[in-house]
Amino acid sequence: MIIQKSTNPRISTFDPQNFSFGTTFIDHMIICEYENGKWGEIQLIPYGPIGFTPAMMGVNYGQACFEGMKAYKDADGQVFLFRPEKNFERINKSAKRLAIPEISEEMFMGGLKALVDIDREWIPQGEGMSLYIRPVLFATEEALKARIASKFMFAIVATPANSYYTAPVSVKISDHYSRAANGGVGATKAAGNYGASFYPTQMAMEEGYDQIIWTDDCSHEYFEESGTMNVFVRINDTIYTPKTSDKILDGVTRDSFLKIARRKGIDVVVGNVKVSDVIDAQRNGTLKEVWGVGTAVVTSIFAGLGYQGEHLELPQLSDEESFAVQLKNDLLNIQTNRAEDPFGWRVLVEENIYSA
Ligand SMILES: *Cc1c(COP(=O)(O)O)cnc(C)c1O
Repeated sequence: MIIQKSTNPRISTFDPQNFSFGTTFIDHMIICEYENGKWGEIQLIPYGPIGFTPAMMGVNYGQACFEGMKAYKDADGQVFLFRPEKNFERINKSAKRLAIPEISEEMFMGGLKALVDIDREWIPQGEGMSLYIRPVLFATEEALKARIASKFMFAIVATPANSYYTAPVSVKISDHYSRAANGGVGATKAAGNYGASFYPTQMAMEEGYDQIIWTDDCSHEYFEESGTMNVFVRINDTIYTPKTSDKILDGVTRDSFLKIARRKGIDVVVGNVKVSDVIDAQRNGTLKEVWGVGTAVVTSIFAGLGYQGEHLELPQLSDEESFAVQLKNDLLNIQTNRAEDPFGWRVLVEENIYSA
């Protein structure tokens, strides 16, 4: 690894009580370039711009994908990643589907640990705090030819993240737009998936909703995901979530919720979640909760559902009654080293790895 430490670090200006998530960047980043059929050396360098022209293939033809993950600091200042091997596997799954050369474990894990280690002071400590990490992989070749690029970049950047609290939102069940199709790229974190979702989301917002529950592209009869999160539905005391597929992203939070729920003895069904069943359950009072899960906010609890012009309210449960809140708290306690880690999910980031 090539290490070039920042000579102008900004850490002394960072106020963990007052910063903006997503636009405050830590002092360093990882980059690694692919050329002539192979990945070059991993570089740990100061965060900043890298030069490209508008003919960069990644922005013209969309060979671009990313990951989203977090590092947490416990009460003693130890730093942990959460199931990072899942993100490593998934970025290569996305890369493969987009005909981007796969990356090595050393690039991903080695780069990640070195970056988090060198900038560990940027990780805010305390309730709801973390460092949000964004590995990204994109075509850099300068050529206006619609074919697989021959030059790529792998990079990792990171931004401090604060409180998980998000007000309950209302979501529109899509009966027209789709996020993913059979045989498509829905199961990958392809950059284009997000670009394609903004317009339908904007339309839903104009109707007063905060987000969309995506349904299957053929019939719009089955739940798939909610916004950029996996979706859970609780009817009576059973929780349901769609099975992952070509069209549904295999979320780390989803998988962790399922494992924690099963361990707690909650009934879990992974399979088709039919829109009409959810609507019926709302009408007969058995629909208890609907929520989304993903790394960024962990859990987003829905207050209401919109379906074909009708607004359906969801019950407001106390924290003790809510499975979503209980599962979220259990997960956070594992992530932040406040609870036992029966699944072996935490990965300690040792100190001074970057200089090794
Ligand atoms: C990232 C993402 C998720 C959540 O995945 P996590 O690994 O839990 O963060 C769910 N759905 C989509 C479409 C996503 O992009």
